[in-house]
Amino acid sequence: MPKLPDKHGHFGLYGGRYVAETLMPALLELEEVYCQCRRDSTFKRELRALQRDYIGRPTPLTFAARLTERLGGAKIYLKREDLCHTGAHKINNTIGQALLAKRMGKERLIAETGAGQHGVATATVAALLGFSCEVFMGREDTVRQAPNVFRMRLLGATLREVISGSQTLKDAMNEALRDWITHVAHTFYVIGTVAGPHPYPMLVRDFQSVIGRETKKQIVRHEGRLPDYLIACVGGGSNALGLFAPFLLETAVHMVAVEAGGLGAGRNAASMANGYAGVLHGSKTYVLQDETGQIAATHSLAPGLDYPGVGPELSYWNDQQRIRCVTVQDAHAVEGMRLLAETEGIIPALESAHAVAYAATLVPQLPATAIVVINVSGRGDKDLQSVASFLGENAL
Ligand SMILES: *Cc1c(COP(=O)(O)O)cnc(C)c1O
Repeated sequence: MPKLPDKHGHFGLYGGRYVAETLMPALLELEEVYCQCRRDSTFKRELRALQRDYIGRPTPLTFAARLTERLGGAKIYLKREDLCHTGAHKINNTIGQALLAKRMGKERLIAETGAGQHGVATATVAALLGFSCEVFMGREDTVRQAPNVFRMRLLGATLREVISGSQTLKDAMNEALRDWITHVAHTFYVIGTVAGPHPYPMLVRDFQSVIGRETKKQIVRHEGRLPDYLIACVGGGSNALGLFAPFLLETAVHMVAVEAGGLGAGRNAASMANGYAGVLHGSKTYVLQDETGQIAATHSLAPGLDYPGVGPELSYWNDQQRIRCVTVQDAHAVEGMRLLAETEGIIPALESAHAVAYAATLVPQLPATAIVVINVSGRGDKDLQSVASFLGENAL
């Protein structure tokens, strides 16, 4: 199997660096510093200490006894990224990138955010390590996600409302790229998922791979062998690839990427299922677009999945059929949330609930000897209001 990406940042047909000339020096510098840090024991020690003492790693791998019993098939384990500081896996990546920024002598972090989760994770590490921080967010999203806007401000970050385009995540990402071009000397752009120009898809994957490395050790401790299935939701693909990457060479381990089926045809965010190759935010990948290449409007009840692209490496593994891609619609995801809450006392994020919902379909078809790991990418506190409105006030 080839080592990916190649030296120009390609995963087969996908990836690359489709950016303005002015950004190339910054991307090359980042790549060089990252490649040094990856081999540097001081950097690795610093990262490990923060993972342990600040994020709270390793996160548990919890055997889901009552869910296993309820579904009547394979044994189910939950990788508990919901227990990370700030309540989701995103901080695994923002801590890594902030340490790189420190190495490079940058003073200011910028980030794009849709639902605000990556914005909060960036503002958090900026406060921890003493950077100034500006977060770009579409105006539509600042209205929909007011609590996260307040969190970011409380953490000392400045919010930059984006009023171009559809005033959502993709526009925020464009604005952040523009800001970076202008202030590249002292600014580090923290990208929130395995997307964007090379080297971001590579370094975000590496920072999130701690999820899969821990899972591998933990499942062997519990069961004495590797799992049969790994299941994770996909927005840009960072929690999925973080879990999958350390298992890619283990050909007996099946991997399922669950995309947001939203409300069905024409109103979803399932880029691999419904998109085709295009260029978005500096890399070539599956993109939801119309026949003329205009980026399509997306929908998912889970804000973290509501993105019209997917990381280039997932596009590659999808074409190779190393991962299988499925979709789960909004209503089914809400059932998944309720199922995990009722059987295990864990309220997952709506994003993670997509993975739970798909597991509920798959597991009953498997023998009792099979082992399934679901990545619980985050906790559901942030979604209570939108689930309540989705169900109608009295539905619970
Ligand atoms: C942002 C987010 C996602 C989606 O992002 P990926 O890069 O695909 O992991 C999934 N779950 C939670 C809890 C998130 O906050």
